[in-house]
Amino acid sequence: MNPESKVTAEHLKRAAYLYIRQSTLRQVLENTESAERQYALRRRAVALGWPEERIVVIDEDQGQSGASAGGREGFQRLVAEVGLGQAGIVMGLEVSRLARNCADWHRLLEICGLTHCLILDEDGLYDPGHYNDRLLLGLKGTMSEAELHVIRARMIGGVISKAQRGELRMLLPAGLVYDEEDRVILDPDQQVQQSLRVFFATFERTGSARATVQEFRRQGLQFPNRGPAGRGELRWAPLTSRMALDALHHPRYAGVFCYGRSRSWKDAEGRRHTQQLPREQWRFLKPDAHPGYLSWEQFLANQKRLSENFQVAGGAGRKAGPAREGPALLQGLVLCGKCGHAMTVRYHRRQGELSPDYVCSVETVARAEPPCQVVPGGGVDEAIGQLLVQSVTPLALEVALNVQNEIQNRLAEAERLRQQQVQRAQYEAERAQVRYMRVDPNNRLVADTLEAQWNEKLRLLAQAKEECQNRQRLDALQLSQEQRAKILALASDFPRVWQDPKTPDRERKRMARLLLEDVTLRRGEDITVQVRFKGGATHQLQVPLPKSVTITRKTNLAFIAEMDRLLDEHSEAEVAQILNERGWRSSTGQPFSLTLVQGLRRTYRLKSRFTRLQEQGLLTARQIEDMLGPGTNRAKYWRKAGVLKAVKLNQHYKDLYQRPTDAELELMKRRHRNPSIPNPK
Ligand SMILES: [Zn+2]
Repeated sequence: MNPESKVTAEHLKRAAYLYIRQSTLRQVLENTESAERQYALRRRAVALGWPEERIVVIDEDQGQSGASAGGREGFQRLVAEVGLGQAGIVMGLEVSRLARNCADWHRLLEICGLTHCLILDEDGLYDPGHYNDRLLLGLKGTMSEAELHVIRARMIGGVISKAQRGELRMLLPAGLVYDEEDRVILDPDQQVQQSLRVFFATFERTGSARATVQEFRRQGLQFPNRGPAGRGELRWAPLTSRMALDALHHPRYAGVFCYGRSRSWKDAEGRRHTQQLPREQWRFLKPDAHPGYLSWEQFLANQKRLSENFQVAGGAGRKAGPAREGPALLQGLVLCGKCGHAMTVRYHRRQGELSPDYVCSVETVARAEPPCQVVPGGGVDEAIGQLLVQSVTPLALEVALNVQNEIQNRLAEAERLRQQQVQRAQYEAERAQVRYMRVDPNNRLVADTLEAQWNEKLRLLAQAKEECQNRQRLDALQLSQEQRAKILALASDFPRVWQDPKTPDRERKRMARLLLEDVTLRRGEDITVQVRFKGGATHQLQVPLPKSVTITRKTNLAFIAEMDRLLDEHSEAEVAQILNERGWRSSTGQPFSLTLVQGLRRTYRLKSRFTRLQEQGLLTARQIEDMLGPGTNRAKYWRKAGVLKAVKLNQHYKDLYQRPTDAELELMKRRHRNPSIPNPK
């Protein structure tokens, strides 16, 4: 059949669509030849009878891969226009590549058939309404997809057989590099190596990624990492939790070659998804493939540790977690005597101090039920402290020595790293100097830039040196006075150190962790405490529950007087909490709520918190602003700036302010007129 006879007047009334796609940007740049071929197609359309101005070019998809229609707006637009019957003909180089995916292609064919749209490529003109043409086009699409499949299979096959031999070149984490023979070795840069060694040692010691990050920050240490997506240059930055977790989970640090740690797929819309697989499902795992920073056993132990931390943080699991802030001595060590799960800590405030409760809610939280049991922690902690003081003497020396060794190692390591940071800065400054000296002095522009770089490097060097010296001084100070005294005291005098109010809670907790395996709590008439020491010795204690007092007629007056006193110092919500903590219960045996306290205050005509504070001379924001004169509404601002002091009024974050002195008032007025006066401290 003569191809021209397929074109009818009906077709020519509609527009011609030229679809252009180069699958990668590189093809776009290199393939100037195909532009020429596309012009040829245009000329053919004109020859078939389409006027030049009715030829629509769709080129939005330049640089997009053709493997699916998702994300390819041009192709979707083409399908839409064809579907609306706007298109008389669709043109493309090798049209089957319009859509490299059979589903997309057949959809287009079908729509073209329905709307009587022609298809034109370099091989010929097709009418999808004709059976023979449709068959041919369908085959072209299938072949094209098959071709893509073969190319991909060949690529993946190559990758997999290389991976099987452990020879596949992959992105390596900071600290590992390829040598000239493509073998993985430790980064020859000593500073990188040392940082990673210290990193893994710190995790070993603290047992938590978070504590490791804190330690690095405290010591002012930088951590090596690679730029975006692990592809960039090596660079130094303060350690973050994300970086720490990535490093701890990276098996290559254990000298293991692995491949297929994740699975990725495309959904119906062509979006790519990636999922991390559990270790058992990794495709290849080859231990001892290259040198590393820790053994495979250590790696596995770290993984276990991390997942336990995760569970403790989430309230699941039953093993001891790392020591956290907060005074609860047994945090991470307590087990529920009823169900055996790990108990978590909940704090509430008692006379300005945090007081812990141990709560077993692992199972019940999931079912939205009340906790399995809640045990008041204050008494338990105290009893355990006494027990330790009584029974710890034979162990004391060993503990002290461990602590001392640990502190000294830690400081020495950090010092070494900081020295290396200085050396690196020195080296970079020297290199910048050499670059500057080499440049032709007549080339002013380059010389200026290089000189600026050199100066910058010198500044960084000075900074690194200063940082190093400051830290040295600090470390020396810490070790010589505070720490040493504490260590010696611990060796000879565990009870005194334990009871010393200056000993931080964190240290006390760490000591408890060195000595105790776990503690099981069961709440009954009183609290039964079973203590298991490291090494297996056990001990049982009974700790009384805090007494609860129910208000009766007899206690009534004393109680109201107490409430009156509390209201001078605390907001109503705080008063309710304090009463509960002191064990008071209402006449019906209920704990106190905010409403109950408010009700009692009105019944007994006690003064409101507001009246009390006003009587104490405190002022509202409005009153302060009146003093400052018109045009100011900045009481809150001055409180933040530290000029005004505020007292909490109620649970709604309302505050009252202490009367400013004349000097303060003057300062605020002056600063209002002239904001450049510096903020007071
Ligand atoms: Zn329980």
